[in-house]
Amino acid sequence: MMFKYFPIPCVIVDIETTGANVTYDRITEIGIIEVTEEGVKEWSTLINPRAHISEGIQLLTGITNEMVLAAPYFEQVAKEILLKLQGKLFIAHNVRFDYGFIRNEFSRLAYNFKSKLMCTVKLSRFLYADRDGHSLEKIIARHQICVTHRHRALDDARAAYKFMAIAEEEKGEELVKAAIQHQYRKESMPANFDASLIDGLPNSSGVYYFWGENKELLYIGKSINIRKRVLSHFTADHKSSREMKICQQTRNITFDKTTGELSALILESRKVKELKPIYNRKLRRVSTFYSIQLIETPDGVLSPQIFPISEMPLTKQKLYGLFPSNKKAKQAIQSICEQHQLCYHVCGLEKPTGRACSSHQLKKCKGYCVGKQLALQHNVKLLDGLGSLALKTWPYKGPIAIVEKDASGAETCVLVDNWCVIGFTDSSAEFSDVLSQKSALQIDRDIYRYLVTTIFSKDSLVNIKAIPNNQ
Ligand SMILES: [Zn+2]
Repeated sequence: MMFKYFPIPCVIVDIETTGANVTYDRITEIGIIEVTEEGVKEWSTLINPRAHISEGIQLLTGITNEMVLAAPYFEQVAKEILLKLQGKLFIAHNVRFDYGFIRNEFSRLAYNFKSKLMCTVKLSRFLYADRDGHSLEKIIARHQICVTHRHRALDDARAAYKFMAIAEEEKGEELVKAAIQHQYRKESMPANFDASLIDGLPNSSGVYYFWGENKELLYIGKSINIRKRVLSHFTADHKSSREMKICQQTRNITFDKTTGELSALILESRKVKELKPIYNRKLRRVSTFYSIQLIETPDGVLSPQIFPISEMPLTKQKLYGLFPSNKKAKQAIQSICEQHQLCYHVCGLEKPTGRACSSHQLKKCKGYCVGKQLALQHNVKLLDGLGSLALKTWPYKGPIAIVEKDASGAETCVLVDNWCVIGFTDSSAEFSDVLSQKSALQIDRDIYRYLVTTIFSKDSLVNIKAIPNNQ
């Protein structure tokens, strides 16, 4: 029989092993029940584990060393197994165990097997919470499931499958669906976290705040879809331990809606500076950046110099890159040096000594330092290497207004000049007020990047207004 409420296609899997250690022990038998639109298909095979099965386990499962000796190795049935499992919800009793063993077998073949999981132990715990014990043994006894060979893979898979069918019958659609949903939430959400908080988040752009115990602010983020972005924090495989920590400590989430992406960026940047959340500290939130400019020496060779900037210079002088630290700027110069065989002395990576630079000694620098290359040749190579880092020249005569409009029709005009934000207003009548308060233009790398993409992209949806009386 097919499932009524459990999702299909799915596979109910059970394995027998040489022991309980997922790293050292190996699979001796695998049983798979496939439930698809076409019906229910059973399959199982013994597997030669290339390892000894202990007396105790032979007695428990009835699978002996002689039996597996003639059986195929995992790699011989791997393709067949993969065809059965791929693209289907992977279900097992204590699913982490079976999934872990199968994943390890595949990874020995250099294949990264991944699947969405469901656990029948957890289903039983949710649906039969008042009952005592949720081992397969207890479930078989409780629901009077008929099993021929306990501890053989296919028989145990059948027992789990029958349990699910019985649960559907006894508990009905609503409870079964709640049990499924509960399982996914519990898996991805941190303990002590009220999942209903997510339900209250809007699908619109803005800034969100993660709060921890005792109302301390953990993290501020921005997105064009707050709800989707917050969900991704909790459901993604955590890329870093920092991200994991944030999720585990979060007890509450609040948000501020904005009319669009630019105002979300600006608000995020301001709030991070003002509220100093614990986990934003190290992030790109510096107010001083480092950029590179070229200085011509008396010999006519251009030499890159790193200098700090916090305000956008008004001169038309060419700048290369916005780096969060002096070190990052230096690394960029070094990699350009390597790629274009430039001289360490000229590029400020070493003090000139009057002799060959260390790069030339390694036959990398083309030898400006020892007179083997002309200044002009070095200049051309350097400009070539720096080219992609060049900051764009502001393409307008003066400030512009970027008009954001959200779904409800609310508008924000963001006044921008020379890649920096001057201020906001919600009506064009107030442009002059905002402009009159204009102070030094603070650089923000995220805002610079956003503006470059928006202004130079042909299919940008952003509405740009020239400001009247533009001087
Ligand atoms: Zn050199």
